[in-house]
Amino acid sequence: MVLSEQMFQSARRILVGGVNSPVRAFKSVGGTPVFFKEGYGSRLVSVDDHEFIDYVLSWGPMILGHAFPPVVESIVSAVHRGLSFGAPTEAETILADLIHEFFPSMERVRFVNSGTEACMSAIRLARGVTGRRRILKFEGCYHGHADALLVKAGSGGLTLGCPDSAGVLSEWAQWTSIAPYNDLESVRKLFANVGDDIAAIIVEPVVGNMGVVPPNPGFLQGLRDIASAHGTLLIFDEVMTGFRVALKGAQHKYGVVPDITCLGKVVGGGLPCAAYGGRAEFMEYLAPVGPVYQAGTLSGNPVAMAAGISTLTALKTSNHFERAESHASHIVAGMRQWITAHGLPLTVSQVGTMWTLFFSDTTVFNLATAQRSDTRRFSLYYRAMLDRGVYLAPSQFESNFTSSAHTLTDADFFISSFEKSLDLEIFGK
Ligand SMILES: *Cc1c(COP(=O)(O)O)cnc(C)c1O
Repeated sequence: MVLSEQMFQSARRILVGGVNSPVRAFKSVGGTPVFFKEGYGSRLVSVDDHEFIDYVLSWGPMILGHAFPPVVESIVSAVHRGLSFGAPTEAETILADLIHEFFPSMERVRFVNSGTEACMSAIRLARGVTGRRRILKFEGCYHGHADALLVKAGSGGLTLGCPDSAGVLSEWAQWTSIAPYNDLESVRKLFANVGDDIAAIIVEPVVGNMGVVPPNPGFLQGLRDIASAHGTLLIFDEVMTGFRVALKGAQHKYGVVPDITCLGKVVGGGLPCAAYGGRAEFMEYLAPVGPVYQAGTLSGNPVAMAAGISTLTALKTSNHFERAESHASHIVAGMRQWITAHGLPLTVSQVGTMWTLFFSDTTVFNLATAQRSDTRRFSLYYRAMLDRGVYLAPSQFESNFTSSAHTLTDADFFISSFEKSLDLEIFGK
């Protein structure tokens, strides 16, 4: 890891903390981050020429694996025709139609450049539609780093122990109400008090940003019913779960239809691209049709559109999702078998192509139960897996991902590395 360390030292001279997104700095697992130079299929190659099986996949987008030829070719071909015009192109309509096929609830679509922007804009839209001030989010759910949403957020904030950011005015944060995930009773109480002032409920329909936490039966439907009863918009943040917990997202898997959906990650095939959309009557509050302003110089640019179109086309026309999901099921079954055989206090949670190994033997159903995990043991395990060539999300409170490029050989390698890395001594066995 000599070159990675040198590059990290140079990076830190000019980039804050050496990175452009906090969790990449490896603070919670120790050591220095790996610098990569290439990725193909399920593999990443570090600057030190070490090869890793990648279960981070750029935090989700690379569901077809790295440098998937049809995606690369579509991008290259778009690049030759110009990078961005700041004017409409047909590609935007094509990608929006594709999205609508997967997510019929997205009757109108607006493209933006990041998941943060999608969620931030969806909240503004909900306030514009309802004329109300408050929003409800759940503890440990991450919806990007917009001020209103950076309150008790998961992911990086949680990993670094600062789920509430400095610089977010309490005057702003006061309009964001918080409830524990999977706790309908708290939601009902809140709505009994201030329901008529709540513009939106925003939720990760399956949480990925405190580790993978599925909704309890009835939770999402309960949110739908409460929102409808109070004229509140229900926003599903499917930036991570879209094309990942099921091809058609959590809304299809659990049969609950939101008013607005946010997408990101997979939808841009690895380029900066995200979208939000939903019921036409609500989306048409957006400028240029309606009074809610939201814009973007590079929004819907032809290169990102090409990556999104080729990625979604591959997902639509071949069994990539099924392959990625069966790889996840395969390695999860292997982990569970070994955990049971050794009676270890570990729990594996999986939904579709997303999975997390919690260093805890209690069922994780919200932030408080996720935080019972033993993060010290997690980092020991993390370093051991890294040394063996398995690249995992560098935090207990993150999801790992699989792609259609992961092979049976990868699965065998993963399982044997897993068994060797779980040092029984740290469990007192
Ligand atoms: C990643 C993520 C975001 C933020 O997306 P960015 O593209 O990183 O801004 C928002 N919501 C969820 C659920 C995410 O997983």
